[in-house]
Amino acid sequence: MTSTHKGTAVVTGASTGIGAVYADRLAKRGYDLILVARNTERLNALADRLVKETGVKVKTIGADLNDRKSLAALEKILKESKDISMLVNNAGVGSVASILEADVDEMEAMIALNITALTRLTYAIAPVFTAKGSGTIINIASVVGIAIELLNGVYSASKAYVLSFGHSLQKDLADKGVRIQTVLPGGTATEFWDVAGYAKVKEAPTTMSAEDLVDAALAGLDNGELVTIPPLQDHDDWLQWETARRALAPKFANSKPGRRYGIAS
Ligand code: NAP
Repeated sequence: MTSTHKGTAVVTGASTGIGAVYADRLAKRGYDLILVARNTERLNALADRLVKETGVKVKTIGADLNDRKSLAALEKILKESKDISMLVNNAGVGSVASILEADVDEMEAMIALNITALTRLTYAIAPVFTAKGSGTIINIASVVGIAIELLNGVYSASKAYVLSFGHSLQKDLADKGVRIQTVLPGGTATEFWDVAGYAKVKEAPTTMSAEDLVDAALAGLDNGELVTIPPLQDHDDWLQWETARRALAPKFANSKPGRRYGIAS
């Protein structure tokens, strides 16, 4: 059953895991879809199922978002589309390797996907949404954007970027009618962990299903949350952290170093 048409949602990394569940749930909410990932066989199978089950229109784009030409082609679609109403920046890769073990070229590729592609796609759609005075950007970060020390440092830092970028988007775009949500999943049972090199996390008792994760994230969107952390039981814990962060800002406006440095001027 399809509810009223909501425009088209673009979901990156939709061939499996969290992105595939977003595709399913958004189709059921009445969005037409543009699904992006490298594995077109999986994308097309998902598209066929969603068209049959919901009747929405689904376009698939086989693209490696680390490839600048493919990324530019998707940016062009976003810039020129009249119907896109939502962008879910979900495609991402992780790692559990320490800085001494991790391959720096793999780290650079991770930065390109988790940060550069997400940023460029957001830059492509932001003026379109601003001109229309409506649109939703959902960026998938991670709890390790806060709990930095749990995984590979470049991965955690890339997700801290996504969280910070979301705050900045909120500041620049919210009053222009654009809805921003940053989602911080904790351990979620997807192939992410096979790619990251730590598959046993999928079996851990604290690991969430991708279905619960996405359903909670969409409930958070419906509730107007700017930052949604499905595994966090008490949202006030987040609000306290965020209040403390914001309270620091006015304390940085000083021409003199703190007295603890002993710099007399
Ligand atoms: P996943 O099951 O491995 O799915 C990742 C998706 O990204 C796949 O559809 C993959 O498709 C796509 N992708 C990977 N590299 C790509 C590239 N170069 N170009 C285009 N698409 C690419 O992982 P997931 O758990 O669903 O992850 C989704 C997001 O959630 C990521 O941003 C991840 O960092 C975040 N997250 C996950 C967890 C977790 O525990 N699973 C926790 C926190 C945050 P193809 O291989 O077909 O390209």
